[in-house]
Amino acid sequence: MARSRPRVAIVGAGPAGAFAAACLLRARGDVEIDLFERLPTPWGLLRGGVAPDHQEIKRLEDTFDSQTLQRGCRLFGNVEVGVDVSHAELMRHYTAVIYATGAQTDKSLGIPGEDLPGSWAATEFVAWYNGHPDYRGLEFDLSAKRAVVIGNGNVAADVTRMLTRSARELERTDVADHALEVLRESRIEEVVVLGRRGPAQAAFTSSELRELGHLDEVDTRVDPAEVELDPVSRRWLAEEGTFTARKNVELLNEFAARPAQPGARRRIQLRFLRSPVEIRGNGRVAAIDIRRNELVRAEDGSLRARPVDEEVETIECGLVLRSVGYRAVPLPDVPFDERHFVLPNERGRVRAPDGEPLPGVYAVGWIKRGPTGILGTNKRDAEETVSCLAEDLRAGALPQPPNPGREQIDALLAERKPDLVGVEGWRAIDAHELERGLSEQRPRVKLASRDELLSAAAAAAKVA
Ligand code: NAP
Repeated sequence: MARSRPRVAIVGAGPAGAFAAACLLRARGDVEIDLFERLPTPWGLLRGGVAPDHQEIKRLEDTFDSQTLQRGCRLFGNVEVGVDVSHAELMRHYTAVIYATGAQTDKSLGIPGEDLPGSWAATEFVAWYNGHPDYRGLEFDLSAKRAVVIGNGNVAADVTRMLTRSARELERTDVADHALEVLRESRIEEVVVLGRRGPAQAAFTSSELRELGHLDEVDTRVDPAEVELDPVSRRWLAEEGTFTARKNVELLNEFAARPAQPGARRRIQLRFLRSPVEIRGNGRVAAIDIRRNELVRAEDGSLRARPVDEEVETIECGLVLRSVGYRAVPLPDVPFDERHFVLPNERGRVRAPDGEPLPGVYAVGWIKRGPTGILGTNKRDAEETVSCLAEDLRAGALPQPPNPGREQIDALLAERKPDLVGVEGWRAIDAHELERGLSEQRPRVKLASRDELLSAAAAAAKVA
């Protein structure tokens, strides 16, 4: 029997999946690719994670579109692998499956009061303001004067900007309408950002940190005493410090040296060497207790935060956003490394629990390496996984699956998911959002519920 063209399923149409599809099409023009996506819309965190005031990054959508969907890659949106179709079924229909499912939940702090109303994972706030349909119903109360953001990474920077930007600035973005309404009425005057380690260890990239210090009518404050480096950090910065760490310390010193701006609309207070110990309140967040840390070198050489004493400082606040990193969740019927929260893999080839490679199963992006790096990091990451896949194809290591034809998976999905969103459906959603955006002088106005998204997609199917 003639061997049909290799067919590859990519699970997750976020940046990692899109980079992998584009790279695979470049490496192997003969491969057919189907992109499976749980949501009715593609591009994952580019749509649902990147902050609305970073529209220039969102233009990457056009690149993804031209390098994947316009090159024949199919989209199976609104299809959840593990629920609507199993891993075993994918393996019966595709030569290879690449998991690009990212890290779908947040890390917890493990402190009392973490679950009080008013304490949220920053990822929930992000999904809400970006119009993720599963988060539309959340109700953020922005009536208090002070919010506290825990964590010193780029997500912390994003949510801090979103809490301090003016309604006028937000109105020009694609922030979800339901969020715009609430942010417009926000009474928050101050956002305190807590880093458990020092200025030299902040996880912000320098451009995000610089931006925090240059927001319109926002006074970004740093206490000079808190940017003063301790001897351990000074030595670390001199001997091993990265370019980013040096730049961040320089920027923070600049912020600390500035005079206060008493007329500013809002304030950001960047604090260092402070860990939350308890979130308090009677039925909802009213305050957070923090403790001072010092840095110590751990046995593995890393610099860790250690509490200096028992003394506690209380910061009154009505909102806490915990921004301490994402975490991947296991996928049904696929091995999972419970220690590192990734699919166990070597250069993207997923391994079985006995350490042997699972033929035809690959991983890319955060589910492969953990939630690190900026968007562009996924490009190099995808190149590595795709080169392993291409090598395996060349070596004949991937047998033809029992149901190799595209009409076979189409028949299965037509039966299971009549409301699947294909490329045409997505184009209809996209056109609808862009058109509404045009009439309101915004980049786009997002449809933020599954029903609205599915009916916009279905309208395209009726016309077709
Ligand atoms: P992240 O960069 O890993 O930062 C997490 C922060 O949380 C770190 O400051 C970490 O401190 C702190 N933290 C962790 N556990 C803590 C605890 N128990 N108590 C107090 N603080 C704690 O994670 P992220 O901000 O979620 O971002 C995820 C990835 O997406 C990053 O690679 C980021 O650069 C990327 N991203 C990029 C952009 C952009 O390019 N504009 C935007 C958003 C996200 P330690 O360092 O002490 O662990």
